[in-house]
Amino acid sequence: MTTFRAVQVTSPQGRLALVDRTLTDPAPGTVRVAVEACGICHSDAIFVDGQWPGLQFPLTPGHEIAGRIDALGAGVQGWREGERVAIGASGGYCEQCRSCRRGELVHCEARMVTGATFPGGFAEYVVAPANALARIPDGLSAVDAAPLACAGLTMFNSLRRTGAGPGDLVAILGIGGLGHLGVQFAVKMGFRTVAIARGPEKSHLARELGAHHCIDSLTSDVASELQSLGGARVIAATATNAEAISAAIGGLGLHGELRGHPVGDSNDLEDTLNFAALQGIKPMVEVLPLEKAADGYQRMLANQARFRVVLTTADTDR
Ligand SMILES: [Zn+2]
Ligand SMILES: [Zn+2]
Repeated sequence: MTTFRAVQVTSPQGRLALVDRTLTDPAPGTVRVAVEACGICHSDAIFVDGQWPGLQFPLTPGHEIAGRIDALGAGVQGWREGERVAIGASGGYCEQCRSCRRGELVHCEARMVTGATFPGGFAEYVVAPANALARIPDGLSAVDAAPLACAGLTMFNSLRRTGAGPGDLVAILGIGGLGHLGVQFAVKMGFRTVAIARGPEKSHLARELGAHHCIDSLTSDVASELQSLGGARVIAATATNAEAISAAIGGLGLHGELRGHPVGDSNDLEDTLNFAALQGIKPMVEVLPLEKAADGYQRMLANQARFRVVLTTADTDR
């Protein structure tokens, strides 16, 4: 009997702990992935705290997964062992419901969620539906790919679905796990990019990441600063702080849009990874081994991570 290491919580708000699990063959239609890296996302807390409907404990979180296909279940086509793949929060689709038949995979009526519907990536192995997979292009390491599976996808997909065109003013509100990627995506997508950051340190970082303008929300009137730049076509809000969002909203220009956090499917994820590889977009990460998952999770909760904690396994190839 072969076992593998996984991190789990046994009850809502419990402590993340390492356990051994038995390695099983992937069921028909699923793929077993040897995990090389998994990012720790703020949304992991929704699952760890038991706030998602229908959760079962023990639970293994983790929906920013990068690894290699280790085994294919019966009937899986188009994938082969050894291929490098990423899995995000959208953990597979039924392919049969009305939404799926219309190609609206993220609205699948039987939508699966990685780390909720099935055990997530804080583990050496994950078994996921084949249609949850996205290919990782050469030139993008597992450690860099992992945070792109949720944080990166969120920014890329929300920015590309706006009405903003090249040269339009796009504001990234909040420079953290999402925002530090949002600035890079916005710049490389050709937008005139303004970072709205708290304090001089974050503003400095945003400039290093390529932002054309920075507004320090601690010392300036965000809305009037945005208006003096011509008004934002898009404000992508990465902070959940309602006050910060209201302070910026008056900075929207003509046809301005305030964007929240749309999700994306595995095709959107593959587009995100390809664009990041093409443009040299990389997350800033703190790497910890899988056995330090509890420490990494606490760093994320305390907002101490700069900017994403990524857990690695012995398999990680950097
Ligand atoms: Zn469906
Ligand atoms: Zn996430």
